[in-house]
Amino acid sequence: MRAAVLTEFHAPLVLRDDVEIADPGPGEVLVRVAASGICGSDLKAIDGKSPVARELPAVLGHESSGIVEEIGAGVTMVAPGDRVVVAMTGHCGRCAGCRSGSPAACRSPIRQSQLGRMRDGTTRLRVDGMAAYPFIGIGSFAEYVCVNEEMLVPVPDALPLDAACLLACGVVTGVGAVLNTAEVQPGSTVLVVGAGGVGLNVVQGAVLTGASRIIVADVNPAKLPGAMALGATETLVADDALAETVGKATDGGVDYAFDVTGHAGVLAQAFAATREGGTAVMVGSPPNEPISVLPQQLFFNRTLKGCAGGGGLPSRDLPRLMAMAVSGRLDLGGLITRQVPLEDINTAITSVRSGREARAVVSLLA
Ligand SMILES: [Zn+2]
Ligand SMILES: [Zn+2]
Repeated sequence: MRAAVLTEFHAPLVLRDDVEIADPGPGEVLVRVAASGICGSDLKAIDGKSPVARELPAVLGHESSGIVEEIGAGVTMVAPGDRVVVAMTGHCGRCAGCRSGSPAACRSPIRQSQLGRMRDGTTRLRVDGMAAYPFIGIGSFAEYVCVNEEMLVPVPDALPLDAACLLACGVVTGVGAVLNTAEVQPGSTVLVVGAGGVGLNVVQGAVLTGASRIIVADVNPAKLPGAMALGATETLVADDALAETVGKATDGGVDYAFDVTGHAGVLAQAFAATREGGTAVMVGSPPNEPISVLPQQLFFNRTLKGCAGGGGLPSRDLPRLMAMAVSGRLDLGGLITRQVPLEDINTAITSVRSGREARAVVSLLA
């Protein structure tokens, strides 16, 4: 099959048309990829900074939708021809974590697939006869992916697959951070630092909660109009005085602050921009350095939280988000600023790196 392969860190992806993908094993499903968004975590993997992309060669891409091509033995959740989104995780429903009512803490072997290996410990991809690793167990910059059936969520007919792919990472992470992790209350004041693809979905989530003010900050002023279009109430260009500026504008700080930049210094600023008793959430992939937080600020009943993949459960949250997209309460199409065929993926990656795109999507079904 055709796929874009990461053969060395810090280098462009290599387009190959001879990547081998094995038949799906028991409980596994082969999905023909329709669309795959390019996310900041893919760039982090290219840069050798992702803890889940240590082994090469790798096929990146983890925000995808497609059509079920073939099912392995015992698969009951989907059938060939089904339109699906490939979620970043699935849960088994049987382990101690699942049974205790926290399926997000599932510890079954299906979770190993996030490191690129299936539950038998092997990978389904080969390049030049050698094992290759699908990023986060998906690897959707390719014509096909082989994933565990628990990761697949059916897509309603009314939702185009190109738009639906965004739900798998950017949308579920941004909206989930607001609804699941922060549990933003109606009428609250919200600060979102970082107006990229995920940040815009934090904005959409805040709109859904009925926040009274949604302040969006980014170092790049060109990104701010996009945030206003999705429901921000005010914007500002982020600088070192961000916490002070927001504190003044909100009489002591916001109720909830979201850092969507992945920079430790920005997360500390977001935390400092919360009011006494406020909550700051680190959204998306974490920085590789310590976070500096003043104990005095923490003392005044503030909360600092992390949030992996939207802090929820894809099998529960993705169908809800799909319904909201169909009814127009969530904008997916408005997030897509560029669509490219697989051949042009490196050009699109360069454009994403430059900060010009909210979301660039690789379209694989012509
Ligand atoms: Zn992502
Ligand atoms: Zn489990």
